[in-house]
Amino acid sequence: MTVSAQFFDTVEKNIMDSISSHDLAGGSRQKSTDDHLLEAHLAPYATHSARSQGRVYPEVGLLREFHRDRERVIRSGAFRRLQYKTQVFANYDGDMFRTRLTHSLEVAQLARSIAECLQLNEDLVDSIALVHDLGHTPFGHAGQDALNACMRAYGGFEHNLQSLRIVDVLEHCDVTFDGLNLTFEVREGILKHCTLEHAKKLGDIGRRFIENKQPTLEAQLVNIADEIAYTVHDIDDGLRAGLITGAQLRDVDFYSRHYQNVKFEFPKISEGRVIHETLLRVINALSVDLRNNSLSLILQRRPQSVDDVRNTEPLIALSKKTANEFATLKGFLFENMYMHYQIKRMNSKGRHIITDLFDAFMEEPVLLPPQFRFLDGTLIDKARKVADYISGMTDRYAICEHRRLYL
Ligand code: MG
Repeated sequence: MTVSAQFFDTVEKNIMDSISSHDLAGGSRQKSTDDHLLEAHLAPYATHSARSQGRVYPEVGLLREFHRDRERVIRSGAFRRLQYKTQVFANYDGDMFRTRLTHSLEVAQLARSIAECLQLNEDLVDSIALVHDLGHTPFGHAGQDALNACMRAYGGFEHNLQSLRIVDVLEHCDVTFDGLNLTFEVREGILKHCTLEHAKKLGDIGRRFIENKQPTLEAQLVNIADEIAYTVHDIDDGLRAGLITGAQLRDVDFYSRHYQNVKFEFPKISEGRVIHETLLRVINALSVDLRNNSLSLILQRRPQSVDDVRNTEPLIALSKKTANEFATLKGFLFENMYMHYQIKRMNSKGRHIITDLFDAFMEEPVLLPPQFRFLDGTLIDKARKVADYISGMTDRYAICEHRRLYL
């Protein structure tokens, strides 16, 4: 038996053993005895930082590469501003709703739990999860749509590309270069999707879209963890806000099944606790399915390296049955919550604020703070600077700035 065949047999046994006793939605973490050996515990298909494709500006140091990336992301101003940026509900609607910051933390937590089971690089997963929403405008997707419309004649605006721009150009961590100089793998993980037109302009980072290849398993994992996290926490927030009801949700089989089980097991607890437990079980069921199905795909393909991962179909995926149930749950949210008139009102308000700010700054650049004022360059460069300023705003800063300019 070859070394790698032995490895996969051991991996399968170890992972299967740990699966039976490991609860992904908050269960205890079995500390690996190999933790002190840094990345020696990672699978061959995981992204080892020693084999990273590196940084634009070479650096030397003691930290593991992706650990250093996470540190830079957490210390950035763009990361701090996520705490006052809308996920679905605006920050001023209440203190209990998710913001982009708490969303990013939930994505990181979920993805790390699964990464550990699959022996992927948790540092990389963490860094991608924490950085993935950095480029979002204020007022959620409504803000991004409005800014994209404003920027149509100047190259458009897309939050994934803006996240990349933030870490490559706008943030600083060193006096000798612009940007955070993150590793290729974290930067690649930011770009979930990309048009061919944009991909051609992005060099190495965009190549996988042109060549139709996959990103690292860590990036694939964060991508799906993002969807699971926001779907479940948006249900929680929607219930809290009264935009959707438990009765409506019980029409969705996937939710209803877990709800009935909780009711049966705990007939005397309050409705609030039943719903809380049901949502925990929903996220756990999705996480367990994602872990098990991905493991099974990995064991079928047996990739020996990140290159093997890139050259095959996606290996981190929900099973077909669960993917269908998950799609129904997302469909429910879309119809009943994202289309709710109160959400539409918030979106409309956000869109108007963004559009007004863009028009004002383009018309009268002297209204911009000095560091965002454009002294030279083309109209496209100028519009990009305005988009940088507006997209970096928090919800409340944008509202204040609008008030200062228009009232
Ligand atoms: Mg997200």
